[in-house]
Amino acid sequence: MFEYKKVIDKDTMQNIAKEYHSTLTSELQALKDFIGADALFWATVDGKDLSTLSMLQNDKGQRHFTYQLNSALGQVENTCGVEVHVYPSLKSYPSDHAHMHFDAQSSVSAFIKNAANQCVGALVALFSDRVQESSLRHFSIAFKSFENLFTRLYQEKNTQAALQLMKEVQSISKIGAWEYNPEKDTVYWTDEVFEIYAISRRDGITLEQAMSHYKADSRIILQNAFNTLLTKGLPFSLELEFTDATGAHKWVRASGNCEKNEQNHVVRVFGAFEDISDEKTLRIQSEERAQKIENILNNINDALITIDQKGVISHLNEVALDMFGYTSRELLGANIAVLMPAPYAEQHDTYMAHYKETGNAKIMGVGRQLPAKRKSGEIFQMELSLSELTEEGEKKYIGVIRDISERIKAQDTIYNLAFTDNVTGLRNSQWFEREVRNLSNEARRKQHGLFVLLLDIDKMKVFNHKYGFNAGDEALKQIARNLKKVSSDAYSLYKYNADAFIFLAKSTFLMTEIHKFESDGLKDILLKENNFDVQIGQHKLCLTASLGSIIFDPSAHSFESMLNILEQAVRQSKLSAPFGYHHIAKEGIDQHDRYVRIKDALDSVADSGELSLVYQPQYDVDTNVVGFEALVRWHSKKLGFVSPGDFIPLAEESSAIISIGDWVIDEAISSLAYSIKQGAAYPISINISAKQIVEPSFSEKFLSCINFHQVPPQLIVIELTETALVLDISVVKQVMVELSNYGVQFSIDDFGTGYSSLAYLKELPISEVKVDKYFVDDINASASHQSYKIVDAIINISNALGVRSVAEGVEREIQKDYLARKGCHIFQGYFFSKPLNKEQWMNLIAELSHAPRANEQVVKFNDVNQRYSD
Ligand code: C2E
Ligand code: CA
Ligand code: CA
Repeated sequence: MFEYKKVIDKDTMQNIAKEYHSTLTSELQALKDFIGADALFWATVDGKDLSTLSMLQNDKGQRHFTYQLNSALGQVENTCGVEVHVYPSLKSYPSDHAHMHFDAQSSVSAFIKNAANQCVGALVALFSDRVQESSLRHFSIAFKSFENLFTRLYQEKNTQAALQLMKEVQSISKIGAWEYNPEKDTVYWTDEVFEIYAISRRDGITLEQAMSHYKADSRIILQNAFNTLLTKGLPFSLELEFTDATGAHKWVRASGNCEKNEQNHVVRVFGAFEDISDEKTLRIQSEERAQKIENILNNINDALITIDQKGVISHLNEVALDMFGYTSRELLGANIAVLMPAPYAEQHDTYMAHYKETGNAKIMGVGRQLPAKRKSGEIFQMELSLSELTEEGEKKYIGVIRDISERIKAQDTIYNLAFTDNVTGLRNSQWFEREVRNLSNEARRKQHGLFVLLLDIDKMKVFNHKYGFNAGDEALKQIARNLKKVSSDAYSLYKYNADAFIFLAKSTFLMTEIHKFESDGLKDILLKENNFDVQIGQHKLCLTASLGSIIFDPSAHSFESMLNILEQAVRQSKLSAPFGYHHIAKEGIDQHDRYVRIKDALDSVADSGELSLVYQPQYDVDTNVVGFEALVRWHSKKLGFVSPGDFIPLAEESSAIISIGDWVIDEAISSLAYSIKQGAAYPISINISAKQIVEPSFSEKFLSCINFHQVPPQLIVIELTETALVLDISVVKQVMVELSNYGVQFSIDDFGTGYSSLAYLKELPISEVKVDKYFVDDINASASHQSYKIVDAIINISNALGVRSVAEGVEREIQKDYLARKGCHIFQGYFFSKPLNKEQWMNLIAELSHAPRANEQVVKFNDVNQRYSD
């Protein structure tokens, strides 16, 4: 870069000597004559002790020589304000060939000092004689003259350098300079100023013309500033709008300053002139951008708050002010904690410190719902997301805050519509599901269980039918109110389905402690009779309810299975209606789960090879085998042994019962064919489910099976439950009639447990009724005179219908004796024989075929044949 020395040194002196050689030479010549010296030269002094003297001029021509100064030998005189060193005799010093050459006798010298008071040069005069007093005075004057010349040359040189430098600086920075001469009223411009005006120096310009380039308002400002500078000497620096000679719009910075004389009058006015269009455009652009961003920030609905690492607010937008109800003066510089309610406010510093240390914050980048506090003290819900930024090397955080209280309110309205029961105003089953799922998540973490109760209003359908739906709704409303009143805070109450209520324990419990619920008295409170007494118009009506409860382990069971079990519990409680209560604990739920697994496996069970039949012998009163009941068995590879009591009802819920039934029919009839072949033709009873018998192709399939195995239809007894009969009586009757025309017999299973009327039964081709084990179990007293009304009645009915009676589940002799005494024909039960597997049955068949043939085994048919031939 450009650099020029502020003080004269050896190098500067030599440069000046070179550059101004002729000027200096002629000056020295003139001074030598004036002094009357034999030789005169000037030298540069380098250092303090050691000096190098360069000879520049003497009358005998130029030569360079050096010698060492030794001031100690000379004497110092002060003449005309100049310190002059006089060496009266040079004979001994300096012992230099130069002096020899001049043959000098004495010398006079004076040092040139720079601004730092260092000796940088010297003017030396040599004399062949002793130096004269007048010469000494002349030397002093000559020295002053030389010093002046030298200083002038030095300044000239420096000014040129400075001007050159300024020129270069100007062309680089586009800064021009101007100077105004108040006396002459002229302006001097540097090239750069002309360039900014886009005017050539040759064309020239007046001050007035120059002023016309400014925009009107800028011009006034500039003129005022310029006048103030002229009159008061006040400097200015202005940014002005400007149009150059080509019409291009520019921004310029014009500055002015002045120099004053001792009387404080402005004598020189000057300044800089700079094209700042680029800078200004950039600045305007970035200001505009900042403004735009600010506008955007103020127009979005989110509050923006920037804080530093200490939590001090450094920026916020207007939304933030509106949202929190403060002015910016109140918040800028305040700690962010003022916007937080307790305990967040107190914890905030610790939180920030933790984040600073670990860089861990749950809140970074993600939106979180948190409470916030307005100036009024009102707490509201906000959604806050934070991001980090670095501003001027300092870490800051920007929080985007959204006031979501309105949204929550709106959501509430939607929730209220979607999740509220419109009759009772209670939360509905959807809401229940949500809460159970939430609670389940918590329970799973803690390995806890939930306690749920389902309260079902009994015979609500009947009530609606009788009193109308409005009355029904009113009744539910009143019951809901009563239940809400009596139930404890520990439970949430929901309306469930049309006429039921759910209670959900709000807290979860260790599975091992859950037994506590059975004794918690809730049942007594909920099932209180007056909870279900309602006032409909003038009438006080009394309803009843059934309550089921379960303990639900969300780690083991799904929400859906929980509902199934809960409904199962209520179904069970209905058995002891009114105000029945049934609780299903873990075992019940496990059982339920097993049912679900059974159900899943049932579809393919008929083809699985896992089914088999067992045959339970039936006996007459003399203990002769008169037939067998085929009973299905399922040994599942996955589930182990599954009792038909468990899977048949489940199979009846789907079409699985058809494939199972088909398999049973085929297997039983083929066994029958086997026994006939073995010479022991005993009838076989086959259980047919209600769902199967109403299948359109049932009789056709059944007959073709009989045909296939070539067995007499008379040896087949179809057992139908009473419930099957009433399902679709006309279809069932049709099938029964058709098959019985071929000789197939029908037995009514579980007689007395259904609702069939005698009138129906009379119309059906029935051969036998089976007294269910349930009634046989009643017969237990040893007292022979005891009577068992239902058993008696069933046997009486069968007699009245003219059909055989078969007692089932006979386990004890007294049962057999009693039944026999009452006239029961056939007996089946563990007292005689458990059901036999195929092998055991085949053995029995073999035995029977060799036994002396009584005709007991045909009693069954004979009777029937007899009756129907009657
Ligand atoms: P069910 O038709 O009433 O069958 C009588 C049930 O009582 C059989 O149970 C039999 O094993 C059992 N039993 C007989 N004597 C006694 C006794 O002295 N004591 C006791 N405790 N039980 C005795 P199982 O075989 O478990 O069958 C249960 C039910 O499953 C049957 O009741 C029947 O409704 C159904 N079922 C069985 N096999 C079939 C079938 O092949 N098809 C259809 N559709 N249902 C079947
Ligand atoms: Ca049966
Ligand atoms: Ca039965």
